[in-house]
Amino acid sequence: MKIAIVGLGPTGLYTFSELVHADTPMDITIYDEGEWAGAGTPYSRQGASRLMLANIASIEIPVLNGVSYLDWLKSCPPRILSDFGIEQEDLNERLFTPRLLIGCYYHDQLLTLQQQAEQRGYVVRLNEKTTIVDIAEKAGRLRIERSDGGVDEGFDRVIVATGHDFGEDKASSSYYPNPWCGLLSADVPAARIGIMGTSLSAIDACLAVVAQHGEFVEGDQGELTYRTDEQDLKVSFMSRNGILPEADFYCPIPYVSTTIMTECSLMACTSKPNVLDAIFDLFAKEITLADPAYAARVNLTDLDADSFPEAYFAERMGGDAFAYARKNLAEVERNKAAKRTIEWRYAILRMHEQVEKLVPFFPDSDLSRFERGLKRVFSDNYAAVPATSIRRLLALREANILDVVTLDDDYELIRSQTTTTIRSGEDSHVFNVFIDARGQKALRTEDFKFPSLRKILVEDDQDIPEVDDRFALISPSSLRKRVYLAALPYLMHDRPFVQGIVSSAEIGAKVAQDIVSNLDGVQIEDGREVALQEDVIAA
Ligand SMILES: Cc1cc2nc3c(=O)[nH]c(=O)nc-3n(C[C@H](O)[C@H](O)[C@H](O)COP(=O)(O)OP(=O)(O)OC[C@H]3O[C@@H](n4cnc5c(N)ncnc54)[C@H](O)[C@@H]3O)c2cc1C
Repeated sequence: MKIAIVGLGPTGLYTFSELVHADTPMDITIYDEGEWAGAGTPYSRQGASRLMLANIASIEIPVLNGVSYLDWLKSCPPRILSDFGIEQEDLNERLFTPRLLIGCYYHDQLLTLQQQAEQRGYVVRLNEKTTIVDIAEKAGRLRIERSDGGVDEGFDRVIVATGHDFGEDKASSSYYPNPWCGLLSADVPAARIGIMGTSLSAIDACLAVVAQHGEFVEGDQGELTYRTDEQDLKVSFMSRNGILPEADFYCPIPYVSTTIMTECSLMACTSKPNVLDAIFDLFAKEITLADPAYAARVNLTDLDADSFPEAYFAERMGGDAFAYARKNLAEVERNKAAKRTIEWRYAILRMHEQVEKLVPFFPDSDLSRFERGLKRVFSDNYAAVPATSIRRLLALREANILDVVTLDDDYELIRSQTTTTIRSGEDSHVFNVFIDARGQKALRTEDFKFPSLRKILVEDDQDIPEVDDRFALISPSSLRKRVYLAALPYLMHDRPFVQGIVSSAEIGAKVAQDIVSNLDGVQIEDGREVALQEDVIAA
C-alpha cells in the first residue's frame, strides 16, 4: 500500500502515528511545505512567536506515540524550557505553554515515529519544504505534483491534511488579510493599529506588534506591566459585540459525562420536527441540573435557542470590556486555586462536541439559527484564552495602548494605499496598519488548491467536498476511499468546532483505521508493492 500524506501538521501527524502503530508495513510519503514537519500552522515559526500561547492546557493535548506532552516537557533540557520562560517547577498538567514548544514536541515525535516505522519495515519518505500543487487520478492510481515540477505517481491512498488556509490575498505594509502572511516578521510602525476580531488570533496579532515596541515586565507581586517608550502606539480590537474572550476556567479533565444530553437523547432529537429546539430543551435541562442558580438568574425556562445567546453574553455586552476582563480573571484565578469549576460553563463545554454531531441533520432554517445563536455561545465558551493572555491585554490597557471598538452590523471598511478606515455609525476610525484576525473561514470546493481534484469534485456537483464519517471522499467512485480529506476548512460546514488539536487526533485515528481496515491484500515487501486491490486492477 502506497500512501501519501499531503500536509503534516497535527492532523497529518496523528494520522501517520496511527498508521505506524497499525504495524502493517506500508510505503508512506509525507509532504509538508513548512521547514518543520509536524508542527503545523499555529505551532511553527511561521505561525507563532515565543510570546504566543496555546489555548489548550498540556493535559488536553492528545498523547502521541505513547509520550504525553507533559512527559516530553519534563524530559526537555532546562535551558530550552527557560528559553520559553518556563522553569521545571512550573510544569504541571494545567500549564498553557507557548505554541512553539508544542511544535517542538510534534516535530520531535515525528522524527521518533519515522525511525520506529523504518525499524518495523515501513518505507517512509519525509519531504519538508515541499509544496504540493496538484493531486490527480490516473488509471486507478493517484499522482502528486510538486511546486518544483516533480511528479510522484502510483499512490493507492492520498490523505489531504493541508489544514489552515487563509487564502491568497497578499499583505502590504499597511494591510494584513490575516496575521499569518508576513506580520510576524514585518517591521510594524508604532502607529494606529486596527485589528478586526478579539479572539485568540487577534491577541496573537496584537502581541506580534507590541513585542516590537516594548516588553511585558512582571513585578514582585506577580503584577504585569507593559513598558514602552513609544507614545504613538495605539491598538484597537474591533468586533460587532465588542467583548473580549474570557480566561480559561478550571474544570475537571477528562470531562465528566453529561447526564441529560446523552448520545441516545440527542439522536432522538433528529426525528423531531424542530431539531434545534429539541436540542435546546436538552441543553437547558443539562444546565439547570448542573447549576440551578444560574438557570434561575437568566430565567432559562423563558429562553430558547435564539434568545439564550443574549442572556449568555449580557453581562459582557455594553459595558467596559476591560473591567469585565479584570473581574473574570480574578474569579478564574480564585477558582483555579480552589480547584472549583463554574458548573454552567462546564456543562456548555461538555455539550459542544455532542451538539456538533447533529449539525449535519439540521434543516437550513435551523442551521442559520444555530450559526447566529448557539454556535457563538459554544465557540466563545471553548475558545477561552489562557489567563496570561488576559493579563497581557490588561497590561496593554493600563499602558493606554489597547482599546476595544464595538462595530455596527453594517460597518464599512475603506482601504487606501496607506490607511484603512472603518466607518461605523457616526464614527470613523483610521488605521495606519490594519490586520484582519477573524480566523479560519469555512472553504468550498471552488477554493480547493489542487486543480485536478477540484475539477473532478466540481464536475461531480460537490459545492462542498463530501466525505464519509472516516473523512474519505464519497464520490466519484474513482476516488472513493482513495482520497481522504482531512483539511479542516472544508470540514467546518458540517463540523463547526473541528478546529483544535483534539479534533486533529480524532480525525487522524479515523482516517488511519479506515485505511488499515481496507487494505484488501495490498502488501509491501522490501519497500515494493506486491499485490493490488481487485477494484484497482479492474480500473
Ligand atoms: C493561530 C492559531 C492558534 C491555534 N491555537 C490552538 C490551540 O492553542 N489549541 C488547539 O487545540 N487548537 C489551536 N488552533 C487550531 C488548529 O486548527 C489546530 O490546532 C491544528 O493546527 C490543526 O492541524 P492541521 O494539521 O489540521 O492543520 P495545520 O496546523 O494548518 O497543518 C497543515 C500543514 O499542512 C501543510 N501544508 C498546507 N498546504 C500544503 C501544500 N500544498 N503542500 C504541502 N504542505 C502543505 C502546512 O505546512 C502545515 O504544516 C489554532 C489555530 C490557529 C490558526
